[in-house]
Amino acid sequence: MIKDDFPYFSNSKITYLDNGATTQKPQRVIDSVVKYYSEYCANTHRGSYKDGNLATLNYEDTRDFVRSFINANSSREIIFTKGVTEGINMVASSFVKENFKTVIISSLEHHSNIVPWHNLGYKKGNGLEVVRFNNNLEFDLSHFEELLKKNPGAFVSVTHVSNVFGIVHPIKKITELTHKYGGKVLIDGAQSLSRINIDVKEIDADFFVFSSHKSYGPTGVGVLYIKESNIKSFKLYQTGGAVIDRVTYDDSTFLDSPLCFEAGTQNIAGVIGFKSALEYIKSISYEVIQKHEKYLLELLHKGLGEIDDVLLYTHSNLVGGNLSFNIKDITPIDLGLLLDKQGVAVRAGHHCAMPIMEELGIDGTVRVSLGIYNDKEDIENFLAKLKRAVSILKD
Ligand code: PLP
Repeated sequence: MIKDDFPYFSNSKITYLDNGATTQKPQRVIDSVVKYYSEYCANTHRGSYKDGNLATLNYEDTRDFVRSFINANSSREIIFTKGVTEGINMVASSFVKENFKTVIISSLEHHSNIVPWHNLGYKKGNGLEVVRFNNNLEFDLSHFEELLKKNPGAFVSVTHVSNVFGIVHPIKKITELTHKYGGKVLIDGAQSLSRINIDVKEIDADFFVFSSHKSYGPTGVGVLYIKESNIKSFKLYQTGGAVIDRVTYDDSTFLDSPLCFEAGTQNIAGVIGFKSALEYIKSISYEVIQKHEKYLLELLHKGLGEIDDVLLYTHSNLVGGNLSFNIKDITPIDLGLLLDKQGVAVRAGHHCAMPIMEELGIDGTVRVSLGIYNDKEDIENFLAKLKRAVSILKD
C-alpha cells in the first residue's frame, strides 16, 4: 500500500484530502533531510572541506536531476527558490516589469499569479488582461488569441492546473499562440508537477515554476526554470553573499546563472530532499498516478452526484486531481468544520482564488484534492461523512 511509504499515515487517522495545499512526505524524503542534518550538515559552494563538498555535490546533483526530470537543456536554467510564489515574483520584477506593457492571465489563477502583477501596477483593463472561460470553466482560446492580437508582445502567465477545479489548461497551445504574437510565457506548475509529466522543451515555456511541497517534497523549496535565451535579460532579484564574483567598496561583479540568482544560504536540506521526492514520483510513474486519480475522481463524481442539492462547477477532464463543490443553502465553511470534526481534512473557502469565486457569484467551495496515497476507502469515508454533515446542517 502506498500509504505505508508515508509515516504520517501511521501517526494520524485523518482522511487527508487537502493535497492541493500541501502533500505528505514519504519516508525516503524525510530520511534524506535527516541524513543531511545529522551526517554532513555544512554550507554549499563555500567550504573546501569534506562535508561542505558533499553538501554542494548533493545540492548540485538535485539541480541536475531536476534538469533531466523536466527535460531542460542545461543546469543554468534551473534556479532554486522558496516556491511558486517566489518564482512568479522574481519573474515579475526581474523580467516583466520594465519590458512588458501587458500581462495576460487566466480566470483560474491563484492569488500568487495575480497579486504580484497588481504590485507592479498592472490592473485589469490597464495592463492586465484576463482570459474568459466557457461554461465548463475551460480556457477560451479564441478570446486569448483576440487579446494577443490586441496586445502583441504581451507577457502571459497562466496556471497549468487549477488549484480549485482541477481544470488542465492547454499550455502547449497557449505557448504556441503567445510566441506567434511575439510574447513570452510563464507556466505555474504548482498543481501539475505531482501528476503530469513536465517537458519544458515540448511545452516551449519561457518560464516554468513549481513548489516541492506540493509534490511530496519538503516545504520552502521551489524551482524557477528560465529558458536559456531569457537568462541574459533576467535582472538579479536579490544580491548579497553566494552570488558574487568580486566585490570592492565601489562595485561588485556577479557569478553566472544559476548561482547569481540564489543569493544567501539556500534551503539545502529541502533541495536535497526534493530529489528524493522526484525519485519517488518516478518510481510510481505518471501513468499510474493519472490512472489512479482518474479512478478516484470518477468515484467522487458518482458519489457526489447521489447527494441532493450538490453544485459541481465543472465536469471536464478527469486528470487535474482537484474537485470543488457546494451544497445548496449550506456554507462551505460549515461543511469543512463538520468534516474536520469527523476526521476528514478538506479545504473550504476561496482557495486563494477570490476573483473566480466572485465571477461565479459564490464565497467559496469545498475542495477535495487528491494525492498518490488516497484510496477508495478515503473517498467512501469522505462521502459518508459528507452525507452526515449535510443531514446535520439541514436539520
Ligand atoms: N499557484 C497555484 C496554482 C497554487 O495552487 C499555489 C498554492 O496553493 C501557488 C501558486 C502558491 O504556491 P506556494 O505557496 O508553494 O508558493
